[in-house]
Amino acid sequence: MSNYTTYEAGTWSDLGQHCFRHPPLEAPGKCFLSERVDSSGCEISLNRFEPGKGYPFLHRHQQQEEIYIVVSGSGEMLVDESIIPLQEGSVVRIAPAGVRSLRASADGPICFLCIQATEGTLTSRTIGDGSIVPGPVNWQN
Ligand code: ZN
Repeated sequence: MSNYTTYEAGTWSDLGQHCFRHPPLEAPGKCFLSERVDSSGCEISLNRFEPGKGYPFLHRHQQQEEIYIVVSGSGEMLVDESIIPLQEGSVVRIAPAGVRSLRASADGPICFLCIQATEGTLTSRTIGDGSIVPGPVNWQN
């Protein structure tokens, strides 16, 4: 049994080929990864919204916090009554109860990751869960 799972989602610019469908919801440019890589601890989605496009609804969560990480483009995040400007490198963590939406700027697409994990379950930070394995790093070439 392998200790890893891979999935090729394609480039960020081609992310529009993905569409998440949960009738009546259709979300072009959204690719959820947990099933594709057998994740058991978090959900991750890759997202690309075309210029001026965004979630056409507000939503919140029951148990899962979300962390949005903008990898390119710009836009805005709406959380409760706050509007948060987004640009490449912006990271926004939202508590489950936060009522949220996100949209791309009118002048260009926005690409971002969204990581969902159950609030309050993180057991260690940074490298606290890791351990060094003795031996050389053998790349076989
Ligand atoms: Zn969400």
